[in-house]
Amino acid sequence: MKFTGGVLAAVLTLTAAPGYRAADPDPPVPFSRIDAHVHVGPPAEAFLDMLERLDVRVLNVTIVDPLVPGFNTTEPQTGLAADISRRSRGRIAWASTFDPAGGEEPGFAERTRRHLRSTFDRGAVAVKMYKSVGLLLQNLAGRYVLPDDDVFTPAYRLIAEHDRTLLTHLAEPRSSWYPLDPADPHAAYYRANPDWYMFNHPDRPSWESILSARDRLLQANPQLRVIGCHLGSMEHDVDMVARRLDRYPNFAVDTAARMSNLMLQPRDKVRAFMIRYQDRILWGTDLLELQWNRPGEVLRRWENSYAGDWKYLSTDAEFTVGGRTVRGLDLPLSVRKKIFRENALRWIPGLRGIASFETGSQPAGNAAATASEGSGAMEERKKP
Ligand SMILES: [Zn+2]
Repeated sequence: MKFTGGVLAAVLTLTAAPGYRAADPDPPVPFSRIDAHVHVGPPAEAFLDMLERLDVRVLNVTIVDPLVPGFNTTEPQTGLAADISRRSRGRIAWASTFDPAGGEEPGFAERTRRHLRSTFDRGAVAVKMYKSVGLLLQNLAGRYVLPDDDVFTPAYRLIAEHDRTLLTHLAEPRSSWYPLDPADPHAAYYRANPDWYMFNHPDRPSWESILSARDRLLQANPQLRVIGCHLGSMEHDVDMVARRLDRYPNFAVDTAARMSNLMLQPRDKVRAFMIRYQDRILWGTDLLELQWNRPGEVLRRWENSYAGDWKYLSTDAEFTVGGRTVRGLDLPLSVRKKIFRENALRWIPGLRGIASFETGSQPAGNAAATASEGSGAMEERKKP
């Protein structure tokens, strides 16, 4: 079995990874990190070596995308993801998904629940719901199916009963519904993926109606932990994210492919948001590699992205991203530990069931940093 994921790569990779300047020195990372949002096919051994060297573990997220051949059903991804995880030296956990189409067919609920149970048996720690729900999927009457549709309730109940977490990528950045702004971090993605550029599809549900449906889902399923991927598609305004986090205690967000949007907002406001909601934000990147044909290039891209995210959250340094000067958020070490690691373990408790994720480990070179952490020396040292 092999991924034929060229099209999916095109669909996912042009998401807005900030173009960090590679020449800047990397500040040290004094603890083990968990990237809670990646997409990987059977990886090159060099990828596992890199994860070990950086002391990073990742959550590999599967999706059903009806527009991409090979990804329009749950297989072969489900089998592959379980296998990748098993062979990952304890570095790659995985999230399953389900096919949301056919909700009106008899047996949909039981079929979906049976499928999800089987993925839990194979180690899936979370379940992904993709943006096709809301933006693409229609019922027999031709109405767009929203995420709070009753047909999904049995699946949501099952996910909560099994203490798994629902990962939602719902809607798109709000800019998808507006005329294309070349300066928007997602402009290249919409140029390459017109199917997901909603300004050209006025028949589709509005951004507001999809997010309202997501909110009703949060309200109606208080026992279900939900992580809103991509800052819950409210990436342009941290105040909007904050209001949802205040209202729904079962809701958290990941930063996947949306650091660029944070960088566009006032630095002190974003910093205050990250500190105030330090228990509700998970680091994720949305990095993707399915083919591993040129591992050297891929690993450079990957490592660059990791170093840039760390630098943005850790230091007070000014650096250039996409031609703009950005100043780092200089978050306290205790906050970074939550965002880069502990929140993943708390919001996705299945990760704690994987011994290597639960315990983490220290890269040998950082032993001194660990020893000095309690004294506040780290807080001094990270200043540029
Ligand atoms: Zn993703």
